[in-house]
Amino acid sequence: MDVTVLTGGVGGARFLLGVRRLLGANRPEAVAAHHITAVVNVGDDAWMHGLRICPDLDTCMYTLGGGVDKARGWGRSGETWNATAELTAYGRQPDWFGLGDRDLATALIRTRMLRAGHPLSEITETLCGRWQPGVQLVPATDDRSETHVVITDPGDGQRRTIHFQEWWVRYRAQVPTHGFTRVGAERPTPAPGVAEAIEGADVVLLAPSNPVASIGAILAVPGIRAAVRGTTAAVVGISPIIGGKPLRGMADRCLDILGVGTTAEAVGRWYGPGILDGWLVHETDTADIPGVEVRGVPLIMTGPDTTADLVRTAIDLIGAPR
Ligand code: GDP
Ligand code: CA
Repeated sequence: MDVTVLTGGVGGARFLLGVRRLLGANRPEAVAAHHITAVVNVGDDAWMHGLRICPDLDTCMYTLGGGVDKARGWGRSGETWNATAELTAYGRQPDWFGLGDRDLATALIRTRMLRAGHPLSEITETLCGRWQPGVQLVPATDDRSETHVVITDPGDGQRRTIHFQEWWVRYRAQVPTHGFTRVGAERPTPAPGVAEAIEGADVVLLAPSNPVASIGAILAVPGIRAAVRGTTAAVVGISPIIGGKPLRGMADRCLDILGVGTTAEAVGRWYGPGILDGWLVHETDTADIPGVEVRGVPLIMTGPDTTADLVRTAIDLIGAPR
């Protein structure tokens, strides 16, 4: 079967481990039977020290490839931070963003290939040649489409627009915030194969990723939103909000800014029946969303096996062909 997953970084990568466990796409004999495409958020991508950083693509790649720092959930295992310490010693900005020495190699290859004219989707494929994630990782778009945030600068009281990374990492989302904006292509188009992977899938899953910064940024690509709305496949989302709180991270801050409540029901309603056919909420939560099939199940991803059970429930929810 063909499964397409819309995903962000840490939460989404853990979910993909469960999808891969269920469909066994890392076993060579299963490759022909199942195909998993992950459409990965690029809204967090940024230029840092002249290098192109793609946090969510790298988190998915390292997690599925066995190279992630498991405690942090992102970045490389066995990482060292010498280059960042040297940059700080030079007084170079941004000093709030750490770039590990191992991670730096990925960024160097990506940047060099970008400068040579290769699209991000092709570069991702090249990098995955090493990591063999067992899932086809595709950036949502090859165009620049970054999430930026309008804030009141706590330093001078002026209104400024900063990159989402600066808002998230430097300010921990704890500054007066007025809204989100997209920076980059006026009308980004889906990367090659993305619309087809959504339209031709047996089931489309929205990973339990940040609904605004990850899934929202993917759906902000007009061609992707249209494909999700138009696909004949069942579209099933998994709530990242459990008991009125995100399990980790500050998704609640993102939702506040859009005036969306931090509950599984509010997020499901915000996606709406135009996007969702099904919505999985935690067993202790409830949600009433007209036109959407809701089910309560354990949503804590303790490991690939429990996550695989969750994925099976999501796939079976709307009676997709197995
Ligand atoms: P980021 O790009 O690294 O911020 O990661 P994502 O956007 O993919 O995921 C962040 C979201 O994952 C947060 O809103 C968390 O609430 C959610 N999350 C993390 N672990 C779990 C889990 O075990 N279950 C569920 N349902 N959501 C989770
Ligand atoms: Ca992210």
